[in-house]
Amino acid sequence: IKNIGVFTSGGDAPGMNAAIRSVVRSATYYGFDVTGIRRGYEGMINGELFAMDRKSVSNIIQRGGTILKTARSEQFKTPEGRKLAYEQLKKHNVDALVAIGGDGTFTGARIFGQEYDIPVVGLPGTIDNDLSGTDFTIGYDTAINTVIDAVDKIRDTAESHDRVFIIEVMGRDSGLIALRTGIASGAEAIIIPETKTDLNNLCERLEHSRKDKLSKIVIVAEGEDAGGAFEIGRHVKERFPHYDTRVSILGHIQRGGRPSCMDRVLASRVGVAAVEALRDGHRNEMVGVIHNEISYTPFEHACKHTVEINPAFLKIVEILAI
Ligand code: ATP
Repeated sequence: IKNIGVFTSGGDAPGMNAAIRSVVRSATYYGFDVTGIRRGYEGMINGELFAMDRKSVSNIIQRGGTILKTARSEQFKTPEGRKLAYEQLKKHNVDALVAIGGDGTFTGARIFGQEYDIPVVGLPGTIDNDLSGTDFTIGYDTAINTVIDAVDKIRDTAESHDRVFIIEVMGRDSGLIALRTGIASGAEAIIIPETKTDLNNLCERLEHSRKDKLSKIVIVAEGEDAGGAFEIGRHVKERFPHYDTRVSILGHIQRGGRPSCMDRVLASRVGVAAVEALRDGHRNEMVGVIHNEISYTPFEHACKHTVEINPAFLKIVEILAI
């Protein structure tokens, strides 16, 4: 390997810049050339490749988003699109790749790595934490801290007005953001896609938890099956007309902001490990951290829907809402 290409793909996540910096700097340290690829697979196909050096990643470790930009590419899902991508890599002498993204990114990388003789290693970059093969993904810690900052603020107004707040957080297929932020913000209930939503049961809980306290917080993951936060809010309003019930959707603020210390350290660690993995002959694997040790997981096992919700977390919410 002489020249390592690096790109970010799929949804952006705070800490991706720290990961890019780590890949560029460690590749330089080990004597490799580095090529940056803008806009993920789409930019690869369109030839948005450029040489990077240690200075290209100065002053970015603390910045949210991704300096390489990110995109979703329908074209890369076709063999013709992937052929164009491969031709661009050859043209720029790129002979290995570090892909920073989520399960879609790794699915694309796995297929690409099977079709063409180019080693690809992945870094887990998604706020959802929904990848197997790592305890945490880059961006999750920052996102959950953003959520609890926002919920703390909502709690002030909920408390002052005796309001019930139904707060929707991100997680189309995964309740992991909701689960931790629900505990950390002292929510009365958490609603997630992994468990079937029983609105009657939710109402029971709201009614029976802390009768002396009228302000209540429910954290809802966007992918739950009860029809979304507004639908849940409507149900609660119908059942309890005497509650002043409000709905708040936190939205894209959850993706932005300065990455936390934990995300920067994780990104820096796995970035170095990815370059070392390519040097040592790894391919088609995601580099993560499990029990504080670097781990390598084949792309097909890293993909989502396999991460289980720890039922003890849900029980904690129930116990502490007494
Ligand atoms: P996040 O979980 O944060 O959304 P992601 O990496 O899962 O990130 P996706 O949009 O699912 O984001 O995937 C990113 C890109 O990976 C897609 O736009 C597409 O170019 C590529 N990709 C996804 N699935 C495939 C596939 N089956 N074959 C080829 N490429 C794919």
